[in-house]
Amino acid sequence: MSHFLKEEAEPLDSKFYTAADEDFTYDAIVVGAGVVGPCIAKCLAQKGKKVLIVEREWQEPDRIVGELMQPGGVRALRELGMVQAINNINAQPITGYTVMYNGEKVTIDYSHKAKSGPLDLLSEDIVHDGNDKILPNDDTLNYDDFENNDRERGVAFVHGRFLTNLRNMCLKEPNVTPLAGNVIEVMKNKVGEVIGVRVDIPNGRGKCIFKAHITFVVDGVFSKYRRELASDFKTSTSSSFVGMSLFNAELPTKYNGHVILGTDHSPILVYQISPEETRILCAFNDKKTPPNITKWMQSSVQPHIPKCLRPSFDKALAEGKFRSMPNQFVTARQNNVTGLCVIGDALNMRHPLGGGGMTVGLKDTVLLMKMIGNLDFSDRETVLDELLDFHYERKKYDSVINVLSIALYSLFAADNEYLRMLQQGCFAYFQRGDDCLEKPVMFLSGVLPSPFLLTKVFFAVALYSIYLNYEKKGAVGFPVAFFQSFAILYTAAKVFTPYIYNEMIG
Ligand SMILES: Cc1cc2nc3c(=O)[nH]c(=O)nc-3n(C[C@H](O)[C@H](O)[C@H](O)COP(=O)(O)OP(=O)(O)OC[C@H]3O[C@@H](n4cnc5c(N)ncnc54)[C@H](O)[C@@H]3O)c2cc1C
Repeated sequence: MSHFLKEEAEPLDSKFYTAADEDFTYDAIVVGAGVVGPCIAKCLAQKGKKVLIVEREWQEPDRIVGELMQPGGVRALRELGMVQAINNINAQPITGYTVMYNGEKVTIDYSHKAKSGPLDLLSEDIVHDGNDKILPNDDTLNYDDFENNDRERGVAFVHGRFLTNLRNMCLKEPNVTPLAGNVIEVMKNKVGEVIGVRVDIPNGRGKCIFKAHITFVVDGVFSKYRRELASDFKTSTSSSFVGMSLFNAELPTKYNGHVILGTDHSPILVYQISPEETRILCAFNDKKTPPNITKWMQSSVQPHIPKCLRPSFDKALAEGKFRSMPNQFVTARQNNVTGLCVIGDALNMRHPLGGGGMTVGLKDTVLLMKMIGNLDFSDRETVLDELLDFHYERKKYDSVINVLSIALYSLFAADNEYLRMLQQGCFAYFQRGDDCLEKPVMFLSGVLPSPFLLTKVFFAVALYSIYLNYEKKGAVGFPVAFFQSFAILYTAAKVFTPYIYNEMIG
């Protein structure tokens, strides 16, 4: 299978070590070529900026993260002129979600494109010649369906292949200089302004300093340099995902993301990432994985796997090739250090249950380009002013994706009487269909950036849970249901309010 532009960029040739210039002041240094780094580097280069991008591992990574992109992420890729990064990697279209709760099932199509509003493409130096649309001849993505269907589309893929395409798009730009090396220090001057980075280059060139007007820290989930913004800028972890690859799996709904929920188990995610491979991620309610993963899988996951998935699941379980990741969470801080911009997972993380990480990172890149892309980076004070505002501008979309993912996880992973009532209410709310389905799926997709509406819908779910409880208890149980209604409302507020407050006020 051919990867996009593979012949144009040969990873790890000598240019990854020799081209970087210690005597030159770059307009920008980008630390990290994961999902977000190459997008920033490519767009800035197209704006005429000289960019050094430093990555410690240019080989195609093999990771279990960032494999399902929500429609909001696809839209951001279009706005960046980079949507063709999903071409020629055997990506799978995603048309919506199937949510299962204690064996019952609701299928939710992504919303109509017309409801998302028009795309806000970046300027013509970046978006041109149809690079806001996928390529017409792709083995697995149907152009007509992807471009012309009136509903939004997401996409799932093997993460490393997608990353290779993003990196190659960035490396194609003459203004981009790639460097293979480990950034070991973010350099500051005497007044605390960032002036560049120190890089450990592994081919005998040793430790070198590179200078730039601005340094973008995009070093991802385990970021070492987010603390350059504040020493207490730390992540918290309360759960982890154990993943497996299922081969030739039969999914309950073709081309859907699947969320398997239940009163007596933690959430399970399933989505197909290539014609052969399906990813399953099983949440474990602790930052460390279970001591005996096989045993835990057998007792706490296997019984809840839908029948059609069991053959591939059982086979993978028998092979025991497990991989795990901690699910970290961190609320964004303001970029308030001259010469520095922390972005991507380094800046902000949420629970991966909603599959929103890449969407937030890519939407941040679009916004950033709009705010600072045309500025002269040597005017560091003006750039800093814009970065201070960036913190507030991004809140409307990031808060919805972040809070939804964390609130949903808290709701469906924990186990107490009132949470269970809320879970049942939430699922029954989805079963009502129409607006009760469309709004939640628009929040999840990253196409409805309205924290106010999210709050309204969340408490509508809480009220519906209370109503269902009254209905269930009947006239005889009315006094009990009356008192329980306060407990349900209190539980809902406890699950939701601290997160939305932190997002909006922080
Ligand atoms: C279990 C799990 C599942 C997920 N699933 C999804 C999903 O389905 N959909 C979704 O949208 N999001 C998902 N995410 C989130 C998503 O993976 C991230 O939001 C996304 O990868 C962030 O991109 P990034 O560029 O900020 O960081 P990364 O993609 O992590 O890239 C960081 C890069 O920096 C490099 N680097 C780090 N330190 C240095 C250094 N010192 N010097 C040089 N280079 C360095 C790394 O090698 C890496 O290439 C998931 C996350 C987890 C934990």
